[in-house]
Amino acid sequence: MEAPAQSLASSNAPLQLLLFVDERPLSRERTRQIRKRLQELALNSPHAYTLQVVKVAEQPHLVEHFKLVATPSLIKISPEPRQILAGTNLVAQIENWWTRWQNSIDDALARQALAEADEETGKAQIGSIAQSAEVMRLTDENFQLKREIAELENQLQFKDHLMAVLAHDLRNPLTALSIALETLEMGIHQRNGKHPWISTPELMAQMVKQAREQARSLDRLITDLLQVARDSSAALRIQPRELDLGKLCLEVLDRLQHQFQAKSHQVSTDIPGDLPKVYADPERVKQVLINLLDNAIKYTPAGGAINLSILHRTTQKVQVSVCDNGLGIPAEEQARIFEARVRLKRDETTDGYGFGLSVCKQIVQAHYGHLWVDSEPNQGSCFHFTLPVYYPVQRSDQSVRKQQPDNQ
Ligand code: ADP
Repeated sequence: MEAPAQSLASSNAPLQLLLFVDERPLSRERTRQIRKRLQELALNSPHAYTLQVVKVAEQPHLVEHFKLVATPSLIKISPEPRQILAGTNLVAQIENWWTRWQNSIDDALARQALAEADEETGKAQIGSIAQSAEVMRLTDENFQLKREIAELENQLQFKDHLMAVLAHDLRNPLTALSIALETLEMGIHQRNGKHPWISTPELMAQMVKQAREQARSLDRLITDLLQVARDSSAALRIQPRELDLGKLCLEVLDRLQHQFQAKSHQVSTDIPGDLPKVYADPERVKQVLINLLDNAIKYTPAGGAINLSILHRTTQKVQVSVCDNGLGIPAEEQARIFEARVRLKRDETTDGYGFGLSVCKQIVQAHYGHLWVDSEPNQGSCFHFTLPVYYPVQRSDQSVRKQQPDNQ
């Protein structure tokens, strides 16, 4: 055998031939003739060939495999279909078939090219589907980013406005404090002078009290200013994560326990056990809850009722409601109270600066949620806000969570 028959399949030549010969003296001569003729034919043909010679005595299993009954036998292995030529006139038979074998190679190559083109088309289609999915994803991301930019611009404007308002507010107590101090100073100088009335112990005591009150007021304002600055910038940078809202609400209620007790408020809750987790920043949500509950306490007379409930409103959102049966808010004021520094005239003497609800709104909006109020004067108020339901991340990138924005 001139080459192992098993290697035939790996040969790259398109025409693969196998010649089975026996040990008889004529065989060598026949083999030589076949080789020579094949070489001649190949010279003028486009496609190459390989010929391997198998001695039947050495490879009986191959004889069996090809079910050969005579030698010499020539088997065309490739291109398909397999063909066996047998007999003493093999050279003539090869000449007869040669052109057809060459043509069949052309056909086979054409079929192969078509199949490859089909495969390429398939790949291209898959590629274009992947491309459109990517375009959709980018469009979606672009939309989200634009929304976030608009939101950030709003919040920056809000912060600028807040700073201007607070700077202005600082003037009033500062002026009052200066007046009180100047009066005191005059009183000290006038003790034995032209205007002794300025130095009466009563007036001096009143001025000291006034100065102290204004200083306290300034301190409160500055604390507020710092908190608002921190809160509104914090709202810009919310760090949402999977959150057990029911548990958080109970923690907040527990923290305000003493304030409820101080005004003998009846506190009730309605928190379903099967509530889904929300996607929210725990610290910021806590801040909203504390603000709303603080207001409920502040604007509900002693002995009143306060209720905190949670509702799985839609597949996308969970709604929290803080209700009281206190003073309520007139319909025409209900939209305004969410603006910074807006307080009802009625409540101007109560502690506070009218920033709480505007900060709550910023925080809720940063979660793509909504904050609103239902209220009847003298009946009570219900403040509601929504948060997005948490969905486990589907993508491999766990750091990027996509939440559906919500309009309510
Ligand atoms: P603050 O309470 O510091 O004044 P907020 O922004 O929290 O500021 O509230 C704005 C105004 O809305 C309050 O001054 C009050 O007039 C009104 N308000 C808020 N919550 C309630 C409530 N639960 N009941 C009645 N009025 C309320």
